[in-house]
Amino acid sequence: MDLRCPFGRVPRFKPSVPTSTTCPKCLKLNAVGVRAGRSFYTRFWFCKHGCGWACWRPPAPWPCPKCKWAKIWAASRLSFACFKCEHRVRLDSLFAI
Ligand SMILES: [Zn+2]
Ligand SMILES: [Zn+2]
Repeated sequence: MDLRCPFGRVPRFKPSVPTSTTCPKCLKLNAVGVRAGRSFYTRFWFCKHGCGWACWRPPAPWPCPKCKWAKIWAASRLSFACFKCEHRVRLDSLFAI
């Protein structure tokens, strides 16, 4: 008889965020690829057009309100910062009305 929980193990929380496929360095569309690491946190994102951008922080799908450049997520996934001018936007400020 199987006494384990019928729903399986409770999954660990993984912050899932919307990501962009625009390279934050060269701004080419559909440029971002993902390379899987050993865990969720060691995945990294890179530019397929060879501009050299590679980062373990994924690009965020909202442009910078200051300079319109692409942004990338912070490690906490609670904010994202502009790749160019480093202007930072907190996620809760986006959705707070
Ligand atoms: Zn690029
Ligand atoms: Zn900016």
